[in-house]
Parts: sequence; structure tokens; C-alpha cells
Amino acid sequence: MAGVFVFSEDLALARQLLTPALELKASLGEPLVALTTSEAGAKELAALGADRAIWLKTEAAPEQLALALADLLGKEQASVVLVGGTLRGKHVASQVAARLDAAMATDAKTLKIADGKLEITRVLYAGLAVAEEVLVLPAVATVPARTFLPPSAVAQAGAVETVELAGDARVTITAVTATGNEGVDISAASMLVSIGRGFRKQDDVKLAADLAGAIKAELACTRGIAEDEHWLPIERYIGISGQTVKPELYLAVGLSGQVQHMVGCRESKLIVAVNNDERAPIFEAADYGIVGDLYQVLPLLTAALKN
Ligand SMILES: Cc1cc2nc3c(=O)[nH]c(=O)nc-3n(C[C@H](O)[C@H](O)[C@H](O)COP(=O)(O)OP(=O)(O)OC[C@H]3O[C@@H](n4cnc5c(N)ncnc54)[C@H](O)[C@@H]3O)c2cc1C
Repeated sequence: MAGVFVFSEDLALARQLLTPALELKASLGEPLVALTTSEAGAKELAALGADRAIWLKTEAAPEQLALALADLLGKEQASVVLVGGTLRGKHVASQVAARLDAAMATDAKTLKIADGKLEITRVLYAGLAVAEEVLVLPAVATVPARTFLPPSAVAQAGAVETVELAGDARVTITAVTATGNEGVDISAASMLVSIGRGFRKQDDVKLAADLAGAIKAELACTRGIAEDEHWLPIERYIGISGQTVKPELYLAVGLSGQVQHMVGCRESKLIVAVNNDERAPIFEAADYGIVGDLYQVLPLLTAALKN
């Protein structure tokens, strides 16, 4: 077997995958190969330490590439394949692993080679437990966004190659329709004002929007605010079934801090909570807390921050 491979349709995530892949490359003594769907992406990944970066030249959507990718990886005799843990990435990874008859794990947080096997850890039960899994090679693992920082550029960039890949001929995409979302990538925001059911009605969300505007933050929320009330779009809700974020500041207002929510934001650098119940679980996770009525606290905070 030869080669540690990385693939993500999201270039930012592909860069991050190179960091654990470089460690695995060093342990296995095998080349690091990056697979990507853009020529510019391939050049960038080659400059960040991939020995080879392969531009998969194709019109097909990532999930349609899975079978062709598996053939390519089979021919290359990949030892380890790291796939960006997006919904699309997980779809691709599972098909590739099945086709290669490879061991597979999702949401790997740490990865290392020990005794010729891939050892990973992954978080379970909304953060209540960490599982350690040992995968025989060849192995496929998905890695969530922002688990690793991208590596620095290397002095000598790797080689860039082009491979034309056909999509799955059995599947024809007949139409692509926008979901109507706002296109905000909440996971990229450095500051978030996140709201919960402590807000009594939709008009009151303006209080949080004003505060967010004052500090140039994005709005986020709990599941109920997005899925039940529809006060904010679903791509703004945080948690086990929503987005995972790691901002510099997570300002949690009128939300209780249940584990299903916190699993999506607990790696934030600074958590500040505003809640009128001093026993609310959010205060256990918060670095700073204000016990008070958000209807009084938010206008004061906004005015202070504007000044
Ligand atoms: C399988 C499963 C998956 C789930 N996935 C997610 C998920 O991905 N994301 C998610 O968010 N949730 C998820 N949930 C729901 C989760 O368990 C909680 O129910 C939810 O996060 C609570 O939302 P909340 O904090 O907005 O509401 P509540 O828990 O009702 O909290 C409201 C808070 O506001 C405070 N408050 C009330 N009035 C005021 C006021 N005037 N001033 C200040 N504070 C006030 C209260 O003290 C309370 O702490 C999931 C649940 C399940 C079962």
C-alpha cells in the first residue's frame, strides 16, 4: 500500500486535512496525495505540503464521484484516506470505504498510526464520551471542519497532476434549485450572538440583532428558534443536529445550554452567557455570565458596546 490521501470538496477543509495527513505520512513513510476538484485548489494543496495534488477534472457533483474516486484510490493502493466531514464528504467517504472494503470511522478528532493501524478518537453522545477506535489499513476517516489548522507553506511545492473523472452515469442531475438560505457560513464567523427560547416573540430578535450589529457579530440560535419558531434560518442553529462553531466569542442569550446545543459551540474561545436563571446549565460552560433579564441587559450591553 502506498499513500495517505485527502479529499474535500471544500478547499478550506482540504487545507486543514493536510495537517493530520502530514503526521500520518511521517509515521507511515508514504507520500501524501491531495485530491481536489479545482486546478487552483490543487496548486494550493501542493504548496502546503502534498507531495502530489491531483486535480479531478470533472463536471460531476462530489457525491457522483464516489465510485470513480474509489477506483482511483484502489489503483493507487491508498493506505489512509481522510475526507472532509461535510454531509457530501460523509456520503463520498462511506461509498469509497464500501467499494475498497476498507475500515471506516467518522468525525475523527485525533488520528495516529500505531502498530501499523490507524487509531482515532471521536466524540460520542453529544460530548459525554470519547471513543477510541483502531482501524486496520486501508482505512477511511472523515474529519470535521476546524478540527485542525492548515499547515504552513513548504519551500518545495509538490507536483500537480490532472485526472479526468466521469461521474456516476446511473445518476443524472436534472435540476439544481437554491435552498433559499442566506449563504452565511456561520462556522466562519469570529463572533456570534446566539439566542434561545428566552426571547418571547419574533420582534424581540431585533434586540440581539442590534447587539450583533454593534460588535459585527453574526446571529445564531438554538434548534427551537430555527426549527419550531422559524425566526432564524436553519443554517444558523448550533448543536448536535445543527452547526458546529468555534468563534472567538459566543454570546449566549436566553438559552439554557443543554448538551445537544453545547456540543456545537463548546470549543468557542470565550463563552459569555446572559440568562435570568442562575442555575441554567449555560453558566457551567460560560467564562463570564450575567444573571439578568435579557430585555434589560441587551439594550444596556448594546449601548455600552456602541460607545
Ligand atoms: C435528539 C436531539 C437533538 C437536539 N439537537 C439540538 C441542536 O442541535 N441544537 C439545539 O440548540 N438544541 C437541540 N436539541 C434541543 C435541546 O435539547 C434543547 O431543548 C434546546 O437546545 C433548548 O433550547 P433553548 O435554550 O432555546 O430553550 P430553553 O431550554 O427553553 O431555555 C431558555 C432559557 O432562557 C432563559 N430565559 C427565559 N427568559 C429569559 C429572560 N427574560 N432573560 C434571560 N434569560 C431568559 C431560561 O432561564 C432558559 O435557561 C436537541 C434535542 C434532541 C432530543
